[in-house]
Amino acid sequence: MVYPGAGVACAVCGAQEASAPATWTLQVGERGQTWLCAACTRDNLRSIEGKLDEVWW
Ligand SMILES: [Zn+2]
Repeated sequence: MVYPGAGVACAVCGAQEASAPATWTLQVGERGQTWLCAACTRDNLRSIEGKLDEVWW
């Protein structure tokens, strides 16, 4: 559905999976859809809770 036949890759660390595991997070932003793997999702949650708007750009 997201990347048909191409698998998914973590936008942060580059980890790849044939299909997105339930633990991965799909984010939709200005650059389109990006995936975060389980580990990066956990790290990212702290950023999201804290300062979502500042750090990204
Ligand atoms: Zn990752």
